[in-house]
Amino acid sequence: MTTSSPPTPSLLDGFNRRLNYLRISITDRCNFNCLYCMPGERIPKLRHGDVLRYEEILRLVRITAGLGISKVRVTGGEPLVRKGVYHFLRQLSAIPGIRDLSLTTNGHLLHDNLDKLKSAGIKRLNISLDSLEADTYHRITGHNVFQRVWSGILAAHEAGFSPIKLNAVALRGVNEDELTDLAALSFDYPFHVRFIEHMPFGGSSISTGPPLLTEEIKERISTLGALEPIERAGYDGPARRYRLKGAKGEIGFISPISNHFCAACNRLRLTAGGALRVCLLSEEKVDLKGPLRSGQSDQQLTELILLAASRKPRSHNLTSENPPTVPGQMSSIGG
Ligand code: SAM
Ligand code: SF4
Repeated sequence: MTTSSPPTPSLLDGFNRRLNYLRISITDRCNFNCLYCMPGERIPKLRHGDVLRYEEILRLVRITAGLGISKVRVTGGEPLVRKGVYHFLRQLSAIPGIRDLSLTTNGHLLHDNLDKLKSAGIKRLNISLDSLEADTYHRITGHNVFQRVWSGILAAHEAGFSPIKLNAVALRGVNEDELTDLAALSFDYPFHVRFIEHMPFGGSSISTGPPLLTEEIKERISTLGALEPIERAGYDGPARRYRLKGAKGEIGFISPISNHFCAACNRLRLTAGGALRVCLLSEEKVDLKGPLRSGQSDQQLTELILLAASRKPRSHNLTSENPPTVPGQMSSIGG
């Protein structure tokens, strides 16, 4: 008798997209106040008891891993401000089926915690870096800590984290004069510098006029040389990848406004408050915290996760002509 390995489970949505990527916001709190992410006036944070506990998140990840989720990104708010995060990451990386675990951080707490991140099983880091100028960095994040973040990025590079992706939200009138300097980092370091179109989230304290879209960003950085496309790989997210001739690193463009990546979307998002959100740019979500806390079985939770997947919309309706303000806060959804 021949034995064959069990079929790989698949979490399919209503449009036959295989969902294998879960982004988890472990806190809605942050030590920064980025212009594009946080509203001008303070919004109330979740009460401690309303944030999913680590053991609740781990249970949900075990269930989703059984359904085919194999890639997990931990985000926030700022994930490194949550107490116990390193132990949690270690437990997360030990879950069978999770083959790719990464973290998105603003980098403020990176420098002194690289060893802990490494021993927790994190190999890949996404770090927000919207400017290389201390004043502009201060203006964007609300904190005068550019040097500290930059030294954390260099230390992460020296410690062998790879790839290190640097995310810059392109903001007209704020960091637009630095796009080439940011892109030029890829000559000197193997970093993946990614330009993100600014998404108009509810209440963020910036309105910069017409959005700075990918085509314009590309045109500006083309002064550095030709952008050679890189073939897409299995776990690639929405970024279109390029390399400047002779560069060690890459350039990526994340273009939610000018180029919907919805057809290839493979993501679900677990919010800090315990909802499974099926699209970053829609309010559609299924609450999992209530069922978790009222003693629902793994089977019942599985059914709710499948229900959420079935509600994933074909695409969002954000366009450059008429970008609506998207409800919700990036800091609680996790980006
Ligand atoms: N605090 C961490 C950080 O800043 O990297 C993780 C959470 S943050 C919400 C995740 C990502 O969302 C960051 O790369 C940030 O630049 C991006 N982001 C936040 N608000 C955005 C917006 N309005 N448009 C585009 N990207 C945004
Ligand atoms: Fe905090 Fe990240 Fe939002 Fe900036 S982008 S306010 S660092 S959660």
